[in-house]
Amino acid sequence: MSTWVNFKELREKLNFEAVLRHYGVDVKRKGEQHHGFCPLPLHQGKKNSPSFSANLERGIFKCFGCGASGNVLEFAALMENVDLENGAAFRKVALDLQERFCPDLKGGPKDTKKAAEKERTKTEPTEELPVVVNPPLDFELKGLDREHPYLKGRGFFRETIDCFDLGFCSRGLLKDRVAIPLHDHEGKLVGYAGRVVDDATISKDNPRYRFPSKRKRAGQVIEFRKTMFLYNGFRVKTPVDDLVITEGFASVWWLYQNGYADSVAAMGADFSERQTELIVTLVKPTGRVWILADGDDSGRRFAQSVLLQVSPHRFVRWVKIAEGFQPTDLAEEQLKSYFTT
Ligand SMILES: [Zn+2]
Repeated sequence: MSTWVNFKELREKLNFEAVLRHYGVDVKRKGEQHHGFCPLPLHQGKKNSPSFSANLERGIFKCFGCGASGNVLEFAALMENVDLENGAAFRKVALDLQERFCPDLKGGPKDTKKAAEKERTKTEPTEELPVVVNPPLDFELKGLDREHPYLKGRGFFRETIDCFDLGFCSRGLLKDRVAIPLHDHEGKLVGYAGRVVDDATISKDNPRYRFPSKRKRAGQVIEFRKTMFLYNGFRVKTPVDDLVITEGFASVWWLYQNGYADSVAAMGADFSERQTELIVTLVKPTGRVWILADGDDSGRRFAQSVLLQVSPHRFVRWVKIAEGFQPTDLAEEQLKSYFTT
């Protein structure tokens, strides 16, 4: 049995309806939706009202009775009484689902180049047009304000802002956000992320980070996938002894500013097989990978996911930071104490 699992890919491939049926749920489909009694073993609340709803296309669920919600993998884990914090057990559930429902997803990191190639050329069932993933952009954002108070207010020096080409954008899709250029592993600009500068404006419709969305262009569907590369990975030119992996952009900027230029970010909690492969190519066989994640639940999940995927290939050390803190809260001395061993 394969021991590799790409959580995001698996989540996308899994047929939620089939998974629900596997767990004995009598699926009543209405468009994309299923509504019914909550099947979760931990369900607390009224048993006789249909409090559970699932979006079968998007692979997500929510129960208004017990408050549980999540994606298809988390659903299966809850049905198996697996603690979502338990990385190894969660992974086992995912592997079982992969084995049962998506055996074609098997394969180790060696296959990911081929898989990436396939991703680039595959045609989605619902879409007649060919899909292109992360093609190079044919434009660059101009006139970004590098002096905007947001970045300085977070303690970033002009030199850091210049190095990462950051700037406040006053127009277009990234209006009122800091534009963050994203380069693939070859250094090609493949898109921009935008970070809100006023956290008070964050909402469901105005997320903290905005990434490029799917778009149609010249007979193709252009898709952006952040799991296909590592932020700042292209600046690490040759395999290094020590590489820091973080969740987000700001941590990479902060580490750079404090003398740790060999830092990359996964840009979210999903850590993919492709990113694992890239990490392995960036670190010498005798080198070390340092995980520096936020001191919260999602940070710990991220760290466990990296640990599970990278540790078969490289020495990995997880730097645990205090609850409620982020890497950008750490002073230079503190960082030094972590990385000096
Ligand atoms: Zn429930």
